[in-house]
Amino acid sequence: MGSINLKQVTKDFGDVSVIKPIDLEIKDGEFIVFVGPSGCGKSTLLRMIAGLEDTTSGNIEIDGEDATATPPAKRGLAMVFQSYALYPHMSVRNNIAFPLKRAKVSKEEIESKIANVAKILNLSDYLERKPGQLSGGQRQRVAIGRAIVRQPSAFLFDEPLSNLDASLRVNMRLEISELHKTLATTMIYVTHDQVEAMTMADRIAVFNAGIIEQVGSPLELYNTPVNKFVAGFIGSPK
Ligand code: ADP
Ligand code: MG
Repeated sequence: MGSINLKQVTKDFGDVSVIKPIDLEIKDGEFIVFVGPSGCGKSTLLRMIAGLEDTTSGNIEIDGEDATATPPAKRGLAMVFQSYALYPHMSVRNNIAFPLKRAKVSKEEIESKIANVAKILNLSDYLERKPGQLSGGQRQRVAIGRAIVRQPSAFLFDEPLSNLDASLRVNMRLEISELHKTLATTMIYVTHDQVEAMTMADRIAVFNAGIIEQVGSPLELYNTPVNKFVAGFIGSPK
């Protein structure tokens, strides 16, 4: 569970080609970071993987099966955005429980899942609060918690930390890396922040204007960037 294979995937908006044919195999359990400047197509590709955006051509396979006809809710993926998209009138507990209630999970199971997630994410003391009574970092943890309870086969993060201040960003970065170790679930993490990419990734895909310039481990990209763009973006002296 959790492998995602992109085959010649493209996206046009009108006559603008935003994603040029992209091939990419994401392995089960991998933490892959999509990095690149603003407007290069990272979010568009993530949304296509999630099924929130149609592909113009090409195929996306999830766990070996063509996902073209699979609606977002059936893809087994959980998306976490920078705007937390929490329900302001609901408690933390009910925000996290929401996807489970909708899926008709039993009360007992919901309670045990919430307790488990609250423990992993340090939210146990905040379960009865409303989102407005939480810090930015806590809200982001609730959004992650709501994704975790669904036990997705992959998490898709779109710049989840860009609204947080610098010190909190460092903490949350460590927490998400920790979470990846705990869950061993595939994570695709979009950012324009080189430091996030270098510190969190198993592999980094460097995007530039709708193409992937290079895919490799942080060390590979640093030591053997294929061109000046990659070197510049990664901060390699080469
Ligand atoms: P990134 O996430 O890397 O900043 P995006 O994927 O959001 O980039 O956007 C890539 C390009 O596609 C940008 O030029 C953006 O303006 C364009 N774009 C994104 N969504 C739409 C849309 N719904 N309609 C038209 N153009 C879009
Ligand atoms: Mg984006």
